[in-house]
Parts: sequence; structure tokens; C-alpha cells
Amino acid sequence: MTTKDAGFNTKLVHAGAMHDPLGSAVTPIYQTSTFAFHDAQEGADRFAGKAEGYIYTRLGNPTIRALEDCVAELEGGCGGVATSSGMGAVSTAYISLLGHGAHVVSTAAVYGPSRRLLEEHFSRFGVTASFVDTSEIQNIEKALRPETQVLYVETPANPSMQVTDLEAAASIAHAHGALLVVDNTFASPYLQQPLRLGADVVLHSVTKFINGHADVVGGILVAREKPLLGRLRAVMIATGCNMDPHQAFLVHRGLKTLALRLDRAQASAHSIATWLEKRPEVAWVRYVGLPSHPQHELARKQMRGFGAMISFELVGGLEAGRRLMNRVRLATLAVSLGGVETLIEHPASMTHAGIPREEREKAGITDGLVRYSVGIEAVDDLIDDLEQALTG
Ligand SMILES: *Cc1c(COP(=O)(O)O)cnc(C)c1O
Repeated sequence: MTTKDAGFNTKLVHAGAMHDPLGSAVTPIYQTSTFAFHDAQEGADRFAGKAEGYIYTRLGNPTIRALEDCVAELEGGCGGVATSSGMGAVSTAYISLLGHGAHVVSTAAVYGPSRRLLEEHFSRFGVTASFVDTSEIQNIEKALRPETQVLYVETPANPSMQVTDLEAAASIAHAHGALLVVDNTFASPYLQQPLRLGADVVLHSVTKFINGHADVVGGILVAREKPLLGRLRAVMIATGCNMDPHQAFLVHRGLKTLALRLDRAQASAHSIATWLEKRPEVAWVRYVGLPSHPQHELARKQMRGFGAMISFELVGGLEAGRRLMNRVRLATLAVSLGGVETLIEHPASMTHAGIPREEREKAGITDGLVRYSVGIEAVDDLIDDLEQALTG
């Protein structure tokens, strides 16, 4: 069926589903590396792009295709390219869109490895990058250079929760002849659709909210227009960071409940953030849904909801944060986010340890900051857990 004009929840369940001649209700797992041709001419025609059909799983596979088509429709793009991991999607975007001597302007509080990939590896090929607080639009304008080819924005950013104005970012990038790439992992397409606000490419670590069950690592890119999609796909194929059919099946299964999971998780996140803000042990809380968040109004404008990620710092700083992480019983002390289970972690010593302290602080990541990814457990149980950990 076509889901082009359907509601978001209908798309979640039906978009991308393949028509299976045997009538399977969900897209089956095509666990095959290669696809037989009926004859030599058909093989030649498929390679030449003259005939539809699959060739080899690194180039494409029906199970992977179903997921790509579904996410592309959710994001409002022309097509998707699934990758082995979220970093596979980030590196595919960089390789596809940057040339020798190119400059990138990126959100300072970007996912640590997305920053290190530019600083430690792309720098060897003459690529330079500036990391600025993109929540202040004039910082982007100041950082642009004649050779800036990509504006790379993560919003809400990890874990500072800073929100960047995507419409403004797109118009600045385009006026400068650069492309806007958005890491939409924290929001997911349910809460934010950057392509509709002017972005050229949107990417995800599907490991997080899209799969939502902490049992798969994967990534995806969606492009607004065909020529860009073709470049992304060509690089994914050339570098071999394709998704696997079984991985795609699991991610697609998890994706169908994205809205249900997020509705619950973000309602709980709102209650928990409000509760935390009133606690004497807590110095500050950063949650996009709280009126105290500096870009709360902007988030209200460009997002459908405020998500399930909270950052906070205890009055006792780093030591108090460590104690809290060791004392929680229901929340799991682990990196990653966006799953049905609640996770807690310490960015300065874990996910963002590779970023120098001074740079971390510029990106709003203080040593005492604790990151909390709210799952779908009963909210009272999560609050009880935090309370016993804070006061125990
Ligand atoms: C986890 C994450 C990534 C990297 O994804 P992997 O699936 O771990 O490779 C990229 N961006 C953000 C915002 C993330 O949270």
C-alpha cells in the first residue's frame, strides 16, 4: 500500500513494507549475500542499471531496502542508505560531501567520535573543522570560511541539550553554498524532521531511539534530493559499511513502536526533570521540555515533543555524581541511549572522555554532568530509584 499521505503512526507500521509474493505479513529476512540472475543478459542489465533487481547484498537487499524506505518516508526524504553503525553513517556523510581542503563547521557538543573522526583522521586529507556553539546562530556565521562545504549540526546536542535553529542554520549554509547535515539521533523523526526545515542530509545512529531495544548497532542516512542520495549510496557501497539483513529486520521491528515508546518515555522524562529540578541535591537540570531550558521556545517550535534525554549536575559535583551512578538500582550504568530501559552515564569520563577538558566545558559538558536516558518503565519506580540513590 502507499503511505505517502498517511499519518506518522501509519507510516511507522506500513511504510517501506515490501510486497511479498508469498504473502508474509512483515518483510522477511533475506539472509543471502548474493542474488541469482535468470540469464547472463539479466545480470548484465542489472549491473548496467537497465533492469530492476538485486545483485549483491552490499549493494542492496530487500530487507535493508524496506527499512531505508520506511525511514526515508518518516523523514520526508527521497531515499535512505542504511549503514553498519551510526558512525558508518557519519563517515559516509563526511566522505561523500567533503573534498580535499574542505572546512566543516560543527556543533561543539557533537557526539565525541563524530568530532574525533574529523580532527584525527580527515585532518590527514587536508580537511579542517571548527566546533562552535551552534545554538547561537551568529557563531555559525563567524566560523564560515570560503572553503566551508558542510555545516554539521546535532540538535538537541549530546549531552548539553543545546538546541540549534535548523531553519536558520539551513539558510545560512545555503547562502554560503554549503550543505546542512543534521544528526537527528536524539530527537528521532517522530519529534523532528530536519529535511522539512531545509537540511540536505539527515542521519541517525539507529542504535538509539529508532531501534529502541538496545540490541542492535546500526545507522542510516536520508537525503532530500536524488543526486545527493546517489553520492551517499556510492560511498557506502565503496567503503563497505553496509547494514546486514538481520540487523535491518531487527531495527525495522523496533522502529514500528517508536511513537508509542517515545510518548511514554518523554512523559516520564518531563516528570523526572521537574522532580529533579526541585531537589536540594541537584545544582541544575537541562531538559528541553523545561521552561528553564535556554532554547525551550525554539524546541517547542521545531520539535513535536521534547524527547527522553536529561542532563543534570549534583550540588556535590563529580563525586556526588559518581556516588549516584553507583547507587542506582533500576537505571543501568551504561553508555548509549534511546532504549526501553533507563540508562545513566558520566560523559566526562565515558562518552566524551576523548575531548580535552577545556573544549568539553566550552561545549557545556562539565565534569559533574550526569546523562540520563529515560526508558519506558513505571515513572514512579524511576523516581523512587533516583531518590534512594540521592539520599542513601
Ligand atoms: C551513538 C551516536 C552516534 C554513533 O552511533 P553508533 O551506532 O554508536 O555508531 C552518533 N551520533 C549520536 C548523537 C549518537 O548518540
